[in-house]
Amino acid sequence: MSEENNPLKDSVKPQFGASGRKIVYDENGKPCRACNTLLDFRMVTNKKSTSSPSGSISAASGIAATAATAAGAAPNAKACPPDVEELGRSTWTLLHSIAATYPDNPTKNQQENLSQFMNSFSNLYPCFHCADDFREYIKKDKIKVTNRDEFGKWLCNAHNEVNVKLGKPKFDCNLWKERWKDGWKDGRCD
Ligand SMILES: Cc1cc2nc3c(=O)[nH]c(=O)nc-3n(C[C@H](O)[C@H](O)[C@H](O)COP(=O)(O)OP(=O)(O)OC[C@H]3O[C@@H](n4cnc5c(N)ncnc54)[C@H](O)[C@@H]3O)c2cc1C
Repeated sequence: MSEENNPLKDSVKPQFGASGRKIVYDENGKPCRACNTLLDFRMVTNKKSTSSPSGSISAASGIAATAATAAGAAPNAKACPPDVEELGRSTWTLLHSIAATYPDNPTKNQQENLSQFMNSFSNLYPCFHCADDFREYIKKDKIKVTNRDEFGKWLCNAHNEVNVKLGKPKFDCNLWKERWKDGWKDGRCD
């Protein structure tokens, strides 16, 4: 039976991973890669190896890995599906970059586009328990799209809500533009 059709039986499903975090399973009872850390995902699927089955990297994944390294990106050396952390980092990069390029004086159409995008995003985000919490957040603190700084600060606060949930320090939202638009004042990004 393929792994696809062979979800772990409830009685043998570990509840917690090696990191101490609760394991998230999808609607078919399979561990969700995009919802768990790679460490926990590997523990629960018993896939502990970090090398490809043949011991070598395929041509396609090798090209992707080379491109990523050349671009100075964090290496996902084997070009594998993301875990909850890699997916999160990439997504925050996209969202804050959208904030950084959002107009100071957006048209009604641009405001509608951003609202619709964020609402769709909150329904489509692949880590579904993250998406559930994000939708709850949007309900209590409505998305602000009236201008760049409003949206950038709103997003920063939304990101801080997740930071707090994960026990991470809050980011100073007065600095969001330095981090995501202009680069730090000390010139390290120049
Ligand atoms: C909508 C959403 C919901 C998520 N929910 C969960 C969840 O429920 N559980 C879970 O385990 N993971 C969740 N994640 C992933 C999580 O937020 C992190 O992305 C992941 O843990 C990796 O964290 P990191 O420490 O590398 O930095 P990240 O939190 O990914 O941040 C990337 C960079 O953004 C900057 N930054 C940090 N905070 C802020 C801020 N407030 N404003 C602006 N810039 C900032 C910092 O420079 C940081 O290095 C979620 C991600 C998203 C996009």
